Amino acid sequence: MADTPLTLRDLSGISLGVLSGVSPNLLGRLESMGLSTVLDVLEHYPRRYVDRTKRSDIADLVVGEETTVLGEVRKVSTRRTRNNKALVEVSVHDGTAYLAITFFNQVWRAKQLSVGTEAAFFGKLDVYQGKRQMTNPAVDVVGKADDREDKTGGVVPIYPQSGKAEVYTFQLRKIVAQVLRRCAERGIADPLPKAISDEFDLLDRQTAYWAIHAPEHFAEQIAARKRLVFDEFLRMQLGLVATKRNLENEQQGVAHVVEQKLVRAFHDGLAFDLTGDQKAAIAEILADMQRAAPMHRLLQGDVGSGKTVVALSALVAAVESGFQGALLAPTEVLAEQHNAACELLLAGLEVDGPTGSLFARRPLRAELLTNRTTLSERKRISAGLDAGEIDIVVGTHALLYESVQIPRLSTVVVDEQHRFGVEQRSVMRDKGVGGAIPDMLVMTATPIPRTAGMLIYGDLDKSELRELPPGRTPIVTEVIGDSPLDRERAYQLLRDQVAQGHQAYVVCPLVEGSDKVQAKAVTTEFARLGLEDFAGLRLGLLHGQLASAEKEKVMAAFREREMDVLVATTVIEVGVDVPNATVMLIEDADRFGLSQLHQLRGRVGRGAALSYCFLLASSGSKNAEERMAAMEASTDGFYLAEADLAIRGAGEVFGERQSGFSDLKLGRIPKDEAVVIETRAVAERLLDSDAKMRQLTILREEVEDLLGDNVEFLFKS
Ligand code: ADP
Ligand code: MG
Repeated sequence: MADTPLTLRDLSGISLGVLSGVSPNLLGRLESMGLSTVLDVLEHYPRRYVDRTKRSDIADLVVGEETTVLGEVRKVSTRRTRNNKALVEVSVHDGTAYLAITFFNQVWRAKQLSVGTEAAFFGKLDVYQGKRQMTNPAVDVVGKADDREDKTGGVVPIYPQSGKAEVYTFQLRKIVAQVLRRCAERGIADPLPKAISDEFDLLDRQTAYWAIHAPEHFAEQIAARKRLVFDEFLRMQLGLVATKRNLENEQQGVAHVVEQKLVRAFHDGLAFDLTGDQKAAIAEILADMQRAAPMHRLLQGDVGSGKTVVALSALVAAVESGFQGALLAPTEVLAEQHNAACELLLAGLEVDGPTGSLFARRPLRAELLTNRTTLSERKRISAGLDAGEIDIVVGTHALLYESVQIPRLSTVVVDEQHRFGVEQRSVMRDKGVGGAIPDMLVMTATPIPRTAGMLIYGDLDKSELRELPPGRTPIVTEVIGDSPLDRERAYQLLRDQVAQGHQAYVVCPLVEGSDKVQAKAVTTEFARLGLEDFAGLRLGLLHGQLASAEKEKVMAAFREREMDVLVATTVIEVGVDVPNATVMLIEDADRFGLSQLHQLRGRVGRGAALSYCFLLASSGSKNAEERMAAMEASTDGFYLAEADLAIRGAGEVFGERQSGFSDLKLGRIPKDEAVVIETRAVAERLLDSDAKMRQLTILREEVEDLLGDNVEFLFKS
């Protein structure tokens, strides 16, 4: 044991306290950065590198280019500008020349960058009053005057800093160097089969750790990154593929017998023809449902692509086979809308009557169950479900997984809209008829780019609705600055549209704080608009603090054209369907994410008339500008999802909590998409030949450590 090479699990069991030169104080500071074991340090990767061998000396810098300058602070001063902005001016010397660096509104920089501090500055070189300088660059302190090291080595790694308890790059490099040296004595194990390293031209793991922390040439850290990113994605993919196969092979689902009688009657009764994509999705779903293995399928389709009919087809198929179905929505408003859709679309369908009396026919019955359902109603519905008299239950997640029994439940549709609630999917698993796993269809209105989807929904099959139903009208989208004149132009168009009998939405600015604070802000704007810009128009107010009954009343009134303009928070983002509405005006649009903007815009363009979307945006950040430009460029949700990912990166788009993405230390989506696809294929091959990973023990250990208890059972025999 003592002389076998070190695995990652070994390394995660060695405290940094055993290293020489790590005092309790330093250990404390390392721990506050999340570094407590040798593995933590090995995986604490440099943020960037300064290549001294071909570095841009200050003397050779090109104006207008982004670059990193590594130098020593020689002078610092703080002053105030005429309009009272704090200004910190720093003079940096790199051995060839001086560079002036200016920080606006960052007074603390003066203290951070005291004279003698060595730091890396990353930013764009510009010229101000004939002098070359950088303004507000990103800064990484590399060391202070007292712990400076020799300026040797061609490539200098710059480590990310944590904020308060700083451990500077120089100190980290000493620790990392010691870790690398000591690991080399026993060696770091490489769990990857040689055939795969060769095929993808990967460094071995130990070399990769050396090269990413202490590269001699710039190219070395690139090769190192390639290997380590491969490892990260391979671990995730092994977990995902193993989970998926386990679901397919070992879990007992319901084999529906779908003769398509009721499903056909359902389709025949629709006022429209199904699109090709809808037909294809329904065929995939029905094929899944007829198998004994549980269905785990994602139905992805843009707002208005017609997912409801597809989802209802699955539920109708369940009913046709003699079972019950459930449709779960993330909010009450949505549950209510789904229920309304059921009432409309399922009207006239008949099923065999109460068990035992095969010849009686009765109407198919769907019921709504939400927080608003009274206790006596709930009892009635429970009894109906119990007796098999209710075929489909529509509701919010919360209610359904608490107490309700659905004895013949075989199929669950989960509408996630744009929320990625992976955990919600497991909820209904225990509720299947006779202990079986129900067939599960997850609907999402936010198209997820392929590779990101692979990681988030890796265990799901996928059906896509890309083709929109006919009769959609274009939406003219315009980003306008927040000047009174521009605003008036948008208001004027809105009033013109109302004069022509159309309706409009005004989405109010996001306000920091509670829902209550937000509600207050909307109410104020509602009052202002009523008195000023939209005086004489009929305004409605909608926000999350209203009681459900009140919300429903407002929406019904808007639907019935008793209101011209609905002033609302983002609560209208989901579900509201009023074809007569042709204007969407979004305040502070630059503060919303692309997918949210897209959802909001999807509230118009649902009828026959040309529609307009105004995005009021004042901030000039690059990221915001890119988002606004994407909104103007396209109304295709798939395009926008890709753009969102490219602009913000997966961590931001899907949230840190999203399992998987928070485990990525080096890998980035969309940058590393190719690796996601490669490692998917590799994971499948490895599990093909060794399903329980009995030979690949170290790799299995890594997958288990990554995914925790969830995955250990997969590899038990
Ligand atoms: P989604 O849930 O995907 O946002 P919906 O299912 O609510 O979309 O459908 C949007 C609208 O389009 C609904 O009014 C629905 O009745 C209608 N619709 C659905 N499929 C078709 C179709 N094939 N042809 C015409 N209209 C359709
Ligand atoms: Mg099935």
